[in-house]
Amino acid sequence: MASLQASAVRDGDMWVINGQKIWTSGAHYSDWMLLLAHTDPNAPKHRGISAFLLDLRTTGVEVRPIRQLSGASGFNEDFLTDVRMPADHLLGPLNRGWEVAMTALGHERSTLNAGGHLNLLRSTVARVRPRACPRLPAVRVLRSRSRTIAAGTAEIQKNILAERVLGLPRADA
Ligand SMILES: Cc1cc2nc3c(=O)[nH]c(=O)nc-3n(C[C@H](O)[C@H](O)[C@H](O)COP(=O)(O)OP(=O)(O)OC[C@H]3O[C@@H](n4cnc5c(N)ncnc54)[C@H](O)[C@@H]3O)c2cc1C
Repeated sequence: MASLQASAVRDGDMWVINGQKIWTSGAHYSDWMLLLAHTDPNAPKHRGISAFLLDLRTTGVEVRPIRQLSGASGFNEDFLTDVRMPADHLLGPLNRGWEVAMTALGHERSTLNAGGHLNLLRSTVARVRPRACPRLPAVRVLRSRSRTIAAGTAEIQKNILAERVLGLPRADA
């Protein structure tokens, strides 16, 4: 995430945003987006990023849904071209977007798998006792794998647990 390329440049009372983003869940039916963009290109990676609340109906925002294997379109690719956003849409302190993102991801990581575990349980019951779950939708099952990727893959989560909970040395140390 720290390698993101989108930029926000201050112009009077506005921010001007340029960038591109993929895998944005639900952007095609959302009004607002939590956006991270570089506000200090000279700062070290994690320090020059700010968080914003972007109104997706703003001129210059293009949201393109991505069709998945399941047939649904849960994600999008977004293009932001000279998007002008009021200065007070900054979320949190300037250049402290990394902390905002980590807080949001922490919540997502702790709640995301609730649905995935339910699907896994249902599909297991459906295999063992088909009559107990006769109408398990194939699209739920297809989504289960994605729960091990979103908000950071299972391997990344294991690294986080090892380093932050167990206090083990970094994997790349
Ligand atoms: C259902 C779903 C919803 C999503 N919604 C959003 C969204 O709304 N907004 C958004 O921004 N993104 C979204 N994403 C994208 C998601 O955040 C990324 O796909 C996820 O963080 C993994 O990053 P990556 O795809 O760059 O994979 P990578 O991090 O590049 O991983 C690729 C492979 O390398 C392995 N790997 C990488 N680093 C390590 C390491 N240090 N040690 C061991 N193995 C490693 C991974 O486990 C994986 O197998 C969504 C993805 C899914 C599946």
